[in-house]
Amino acid sequence: AAGNMPLIELRNVRMQFGGNVAVNDVSLKIQAGEIVGLIGPNGSGKTTLFNCISRVYTPTAGKVLFAGKDLSGLRRDQVAQLGIGRTYQIPRPFGDLTVQENIAIPLMFGESPLSPRDAMREARAFVEFADLSHRLRERADALSVQERKALEFARALACKPRLLLVDEVASGLTPAEVKRFVDQIRHVRDRYGVTVIWVEHIFSALEQVVDRVIALEQGSLIADGHLSEVVQDERVLSGYLGS
Ligand code: ADP
Repeated sequence: AAGNMPLIELRNVRMQFGGNVAVNDVSLKIQAGEIVGLIGPNGSGKTTLFNCISRVYTPTAGKVLFAGKDLSGLRRDQVAQLGIGRTYQIPRPFGDLTVQENIAIPLMFGESPLSPRDAMREARAFVEFADLSHRLRERADALSVQERKALEFARALACKPRLLLVDEVASGLTPAEVKRFVDQIRHVRDRYGVTVIWVEHIFSALEQVVDRVIALEQGSLIADGHLSEVVQDERVLSGYLGS
């Protein structure tokens, strides 16, 4: 039934760079409203998988379907318009613009673009969501690492995604800061109905919020299930120990 259609589905997605198979025939389905962790040692293909979904790369083979729509042939900006958003591990805000202006910009250029004035007003809600209200008029390059990550998160949300790909936010944060991020990810799903795929190495962060995790090893999907089960999987363990 249409009600069971996954929000995102990968069918045998392969990404090859010369002889190096970075993503090896990965198939998976994620339903709307799920929060899914994506784990695997360095070099296992997590970022490349994100790049295939968000169309930074065109997969060598296989298909990505978003709400049933085949993304083949679409450009990165078209996929973003459809509702696939993304945060980057190393955020690059416009340093000489304020926090509020950084969020207002995507609001001025979306599918239903706002006037600069309305965008600045609406930006406040996202800034507040990211716990950055006290920094609203601060230049982005004056922010701490954690604040930059929060700004990056708010920016991605301002693009109004239906699916948000989150790349490693917890590294370098204190447990209290990690907890705040976990709460934000949960709220993104609960309040805005956003589906989330979260690449994260810190399992104690993932376990607070994910419904399930998918594990990659040398580009292949090797486990898919509850975090508690997946971390006991022999292949998952040996992949981490060997790396
Ligand atoms: P992870 O995010 O899990 O650390 P990556 O997706 O970054 O892993 O990398 C998976 C593999 O793909 C690695 O072997 C990496 O060198 C390779 N790779 C990623 N991007 C490129 C690229 N643009 N050109 C060549 N090889 C790449």
